[in-house]
Amino acid sequence: MATSTQDYYGILGVSRSASPDEIRKAYRKLARKHHPDLNPGDKAAEERFKRVQEAYDILSEPKKRQMYDQVGYYSEHGPQPGPGPQPGPGMDFGGFDFSDYAPGGQAGTGAGPGAGGFSGQFRDLFGQFFGRGAHPEERPAPQPGTDLEYGLNIDFWQAIRGTQVTVGVIRQEACATCGGTGSAAGGAATCPQCQGKGNVTQMAGAMRFNIACPRCGGSGKLPNACPACHGDGRLAANEDVEIRIPPGVQTGTRLRVAAKGNSGTMGALPGDLYITVRVGPHPFFRREGDDIEIHVPVTVTEAGLGAKIEVPTIDGRALLKVPPGTASGQKFRMREKGVLNSRKNKRGDQIVEVAVQPPKVRDERTKEILRELAELNPEDPRQALWSQV
Ligand SMILES: [Zn+2]
Ligand SMILES: [Zn+2]
Repeated sequence: MATSTQDYYGILGVSRSASPDEIRKAYRKLARKHHPDLNPGDKAAEERFKRVQEAYDILSEPKKRQMYDQVGYYSEHGPQPGPGPQPGPGMDFGGFDFSDYAPGGQAGTGAGPGAGGFSGQFRDLFGQFFGRGAHPEERPAPQPGTDLEYGLNIDFWQAIRGTQVTVGVIRQEACATCGGTGSAAGGAATCPQCQGKGNVTQMAGAMRFNIACPRCGGSGKLPNACPACHGDGRLAANEDVEIRIPPGVQTGTRLRVAAKGNSGTMGALPGDLYITVRVGPHPFFRREGDDIEIHVPVTVTEAGLGAKIEVPTIDGRALLKVPPGTASGQKFRMREKGVLNSRKNKRGDQIVEVAVQPPKVRDERTKEILRELAELNPEDPRQALWSQV
């Protein structure tokens, strides 16, 4: 093909003084119009499409355009006596998918209402498409590891007494192959983003583009990256972490296990592992902070005459003195029979709320005694209520 005879300005339908913006707009319009996907089997359209690509390739690059303007053609080796090498963008249009794209539709207006959104995206992608802005990703700086959060259910007694549990944690660990540095001793690793192909497919609206892989810049390789961790310095792994639960934790307690979060990248410091505890209930002991609350029934005679009764505590049985004349709902504090708070190194109390049980009246003799009791105690217990009505 006689490259030197191409009228690139004519192909794009712009004047020789056209601005880069005018050239870009003209190119976009024509690229859509002649795209092979919109003209299946049309060899002439394909040829026009290639010419449009070639014209744009030259006119969109200031240096190439300058040479073309001066000598009438562009060659990578500069102006030459003979025809220069075939300049071609050499692009892969395999993923350039216009199938959902209505020709002449709203998106085709380029600078129309959608210019800021869709067209902006379109332009950015085309920039990458032609290799501009497709620089290999800078090697990222080492990043400290992130913290991990796990929940842990333990039962009432584990919370009271403290315990040791093993928690299976999935965390990013330092890569054993490279010792966490991310660098291999030598050689290059396959780029994980493009699987070594050098290009990736991106979507812009309904269109798909094959662009140079932004991670490796199209080379398909990441130089010096550790092949095991692809340069990250870390690999996800299951780890059983031993966690010591101190006595006295309660629901919501958050325990920190230093350095058991994710490892940092490229050898940076690891994060921490945080365990938030949830404590299961007990049939009758209720936690109220470091105090234990319990309801205890007492008989009429115990309440009336007073008694030393045995009540359960978290340490086992303990004696509680119920004074004569105890009423239902009365609360008694048993000092330091609550939960040991290992942080304060201090025990809470146990609060006993008594409930006076009615006597079981199974026989005549009991009835007799109760009637006698009533005669001896004729006061109306509701007297106080009436006086305040
Ligand atoms: Zn590694
Ligand atoms: Zn890549």
